[in-house]
Amino acid sequence: MEVGEVSVPETSNFSKIYDTLQANPYFNAGAGLAGIGLAMNVLRRSAQIGNTYFRRRFMITLQINNEDAAYPWLLDFINKRSAQQTRNLSANTIVQQAESGKTELSISFLPGHGQHFFVHNYRWIKVERQREKQVIQRDGIRTPFETVTLTTLGSDVTFFKKMLQESAKDAIDNTQTGLVIYQAVGPQWLRFGIPRKKRDIQSVILDKNICQELCQDFEEFTKSSNWYADRGVPYRRGYLFYGPPGTGKSSFISALASHYGYSVCLLSLSERTLDDDRLNHLLNTAPPNSVVILEDIDAAFVSREDPMANHPAYQGMSRVTFSGLLNALDGVACAEERITFMTTNYVERLDPALIRPGRVDRKQYFGNATEDMLRKMFLRFYPSSTSSQADLFIKSIKSTENLSPASIQGHFLLYKDNPMDAIDNIHRIFD
Ligand code: ADP
Repeated sequence: MEVGEVSVPETSNFSKIYDTLQANPYFNAGAGLAGIGLAMNVLRRSAQIGNTYFRRRFMITLQINNEDAAYPWLLDFINKRSAQQTRNLSANTIVQQAESGKTELSISFLPGHGQHFFVHNYRWIKVERQREKQVIQRDGIRTPFETVTLTTLGSDVTFFKKMLQESAKDAIDNTQTGLVIYQAVGPQWLRFGIPRKKRDIQSVILDKNICQELCQDFEEFTKSSNWYADRGVPYRRGYLFYGPPGTGKSSFISALASHYGYSVCLLSLSERTLDDDRLNHLLNTAPPNSVVILEDIDAAFVSREDPMANHPAYQGMSRVTFSGLLNALDGVACAEERITFMTTNYVERLDPALIRPGRVDRKQYFGNATEDMLRKMFLRFYPSSTSSQADLFIKSIKSTENLSPASIQGHFLLYKDNPMDAIDNIHRIFD
């Protein structure tokens, strides 16, 4: 270093650089931009945190994917409520071909992919249906993985829980479950044919309030398993329906069973291969949620006091003994619920021991048509007819004696679409 030269302090170097940069317009602009960027970043982060906080605190979300059984139910539920509010639909087509070759097509529409809004219970709900890249295997078919996310304002998740339950109930109510019939084959119950179409219980016309009373009785029994268990009473109920043929005894049992989600097990006591052991075994092993029907019980057993007892027609019909039947009905082995229906056209031929309480808890007479039944049948068969036409129909019948509901149904079938013809030709019932 030369003498006389003055060393400049480092700080002034910095301030020079600073001054130079300050004077540089490019640098100034860059620093400004960086400042704005930083501020924006902070703002964005705060908005994100605020958003997350808001969502956590004031919004509820339900996410469900198409691996879940409730997925189509929920989509269907949404679709029913947002049908008028969305224009974005996707179709789900099912082609069913019966063994006979008959082909049926059913197309259902679901909310399409993307966002939808709908109102449920006075709340706006946002629906986001997303399709992922993953593929899942379902019933041997590869389908894209999908999720549906529902979001709404609120803090109580029971709103979505209730909604999911409602959608499940809708779906179950819509499922066409028919009446399953079981037949005894050897020592076991086997399903007989495909489930039959359910019959509306109101379509079996009974006098006065008999239908309501029987339904009430049945329902009350099916709900009282605890009552029976608490008292140590065997949980079973026996019904005896008696009356002339064609009065709806069998039809009512099937309608009642299917109305309450039960299947029916048919057993004929006149079957030659049925013996005491098999009967006992079958009555104690009926499938869960089913009722056992013993039809025309009089054909198998005749009261010992009845003169018909010695009639050749009643000899050797069944290998089941009377005491075998009583034992099977009393069935100590049976721990589960058991409901037995017996039907007969001749109640007077039955041995009193068979129909004493415990074996038969409720007896019900099914009679021929009364005026009340004629009116109900007419109005049910011809829903667009007037009550004065029903009066005319009743008047046109000279006598209801021995007039079974089955024969009236047969008459109506001849004049399906014309109530007046049914009235004018009423004499044909008696021909
Ligand atoms: P049951 O068992 O008393 O002999 P069913 O139930 O077999 O009589 O009835 C025979 C036919 O008559 C069925 O097709 C049924 O629809 C009709 N039927 C009988 N009784 C009634 C009724 N009370 N209401 C409506 N239809 C009836």
